[in-house]
Amino acid sequence: MKTLARATQAIHIGVGKDSATGAISYPIYPSATYRHPGVGQSTGFDYSRSGNPTRQTLEEGLAVLEGGVRGLAFSSGMAALTTLFLHFRTGDHIIASEDIYGGTYRLLTLVLGNLGLHISYVPTSDVAAVQAAMQPNTRALLVETPGNPLMGISDLAALGTLCRKHELMFIVDNTFMTPMLQRPFEFGADVVVHSATKYLGGHNDVCAGVLVARTAELGERLYFLQNSIGAVLSPQDCWLLLRSLKTLSLRMERHNQNAMQIAQWLEKHPAVKAVHYPGLPSHPQHALAQSQASGFGGMLSFRVRSAQMARKVLERLTLISFAESLGGVETLMTLPDIQTHGDIPREQKDRLGIDESLLRLSVGIEDVADIIADLEQAFAAAERDA
Ligand SMILES: *Cc1c(COP(=O)(O)O)cnc(C)c1O
Repeated sequence: MKTLARATQAIHIGVGKDSATGAISYPIYPSATYRHPGVGQSTGFDYSRSGNPTRQTLEEGLAVLEGGVRGLAFSSGMAALTTLFLHFRTGDHIIASEDIYGGTYRLLTLVLGNLGLHISYVPTSDVAAVQAAMQPNTRALLVETPGNPLMGISDLAALGTLCRKHELMFIVDNTFMTPMLQRPFEFGADVVVHSATKYLGGHNDVCAGVLVARTAELGERLYFLQNSIGAVLSPQDCWLLLRSLKTLSLRMERHNQNAMQIAQWLEKHPAVKAVHYPGLPSHPQHALAQSQASGFGGMLSFRVRSAQMARKVLERLTLISFAESLGGVETLMTLPDIQTHGDIPREQKDRLGIDESLLRLSVGIEDVADIIADLEQAFAAAERDA
């Protein structure tokens, strides 16, 4: 399977693998437990938390797509991250991107911080700042690139080299890009994380998380934690993800195209003060984004004249939903300051530039003219109201 293109690999995960039936769509195995053929013998499956055929098929496929050796599927992105961070011990220090998903910040600071993990948030787009934050007890670097919601880009190759030199576990949350656009293992990542609720699922109908490990040894350790902690993905949801992955490549192509056109349209609109999209030449790290990813993705954020205008735009949307989350086929808009990043302290948000005039758009795969028409009428109505 390794020699096929990724689009083909994604479509063929599990196809025909069920030898009993030859099923094209790999079956859902709901069985919680399995009959042993004899004492000391196993079919390879004993108990569904420890191993399930549908989950295993998904996990093997995810490892191939990311270019790692071991994939693990969890009941949410947060479940995947929690499992990963329980690898560390009291007193360990972790460096994380400061423009990170708000839920990851909450987990690291308000949950794992109480268990004695020390966390530093730094602008990981600045390699020197990462180096300066290192301590003798630093064990890992967690990076999201593009950042959320301001779309800052971190240099994966430079950070990979730094982590290798200092023996840090290099963790990349690849949710925004997916393996179709960005391949963190090629830049030295040790673990790739996904909220599969987003692009991998792609239809706003499943909540799931993924870890992929670079080595068999680390994969075995993460599997031990997955089985011990137990936040596994159900067989039904594994099947939904298997189905979603078949169209991932096509969906990402359209997300890229639509987001680029909308970013260009927003940049020209008089009510928009700034647009943050790595695909725009005006993005300060446009060249870096281009060098380490094969597309710019479907996420962007933009600033309007005032907090009041942002609220009015949200109220006036008709096709686009005012909703949290991202990465689905439907276009969604959110106000990060009070929603996705509500738990991040005010001074950190002020430093980053997250306030109530900043809107985040998850560009869907509808006809782009319809998305732009909805933005146009919402802006016009918001201006009239003001
Ligand atoms: C949503 C998200 C998560 C958390 O995943 P859930 O599936 O919501 O638990 C983690 N990282 C990023 C970048 C996300 O967007």
